[in-house]
Amino acid sequence: MGSNLGDRQIFISYGIKRLSRIKDSGIGAFSGLYATEPVGVQDRTPFLNMVVKFHTSITVDALLDHLQRIEKDAGRTDAQRKKSRVLDMDILFFDDDIITREDLVVPHPEVHNRRFMLEPLAEIAGDLVHPVKKKKIKKLLEECPKTHWVKRL
Ligand code: AMP
Repeated sequence: MGSNLGDRQIFISYGIKRLSRIKDSGIGAFSGLYATEPVGVQDRTPFLNMVVKFHTSITVDALLDHLQRIEKDAGRTDAQRKKSRVLDMDILFFDDDIITREDLVVPHPEVHNRRFMLEPLAEIAGDLVHPVKKKKIKKLLEECPKTHWVKRL
C-alpha cells in the first residue's frame, strides 16, 4: 500500500480497515510504516508505504476487484494514475502464482527493482522465494540498487 497525497496515514489505515473486512480472509502480518522517495511520480511528496500479508480463500481477481474498489472509495481518481495518489494497493505476490495478463501481472513486475516494496516485504517475508526470479526477498533486497531512499518510521 502507498499514499502520497492528503493525510497519508489516514489513507493507509483506511486501506487496512477495508482489507480486514474482506470475507474469508484475514491479515496475517504487517510491516512497519516507511517514508519513501516517490518513483515515477512528478510530485516530490514522500510516500508512506507498508506491506501486509493477507490470507484469503477468494480468487486473485476478486482480490483485485476489492483493491480497486477500496482505492476508489478512498477518493482515488483515474487522473491520479502515475501521479500522486491518495491510496495505491498492489498485489505483490499471490502464493507462487505467475500471472501475465494485460490487467494483472503477479508477481508485481517491479517488485525486485523497488526498495520501497522490498524493504517492508523483507521485514515480514524475507524467506519468501520470488517464483520467477527464484530468489528470496532478502537476497533481492541485497541486490537491489539504492536508486531511491527508504526510511522506516
Ligand atoms: P496503478 O495505477 O499502478 O495502481 O495501476 C493499476 C492498474 O494496474 C490496474 O488497472 C490493474 O489492473 C493493473 N495491475 C497489473 N498488475 C497488478 C498488480 N499486481 N496489482 C495491482 N494492480 C495491477
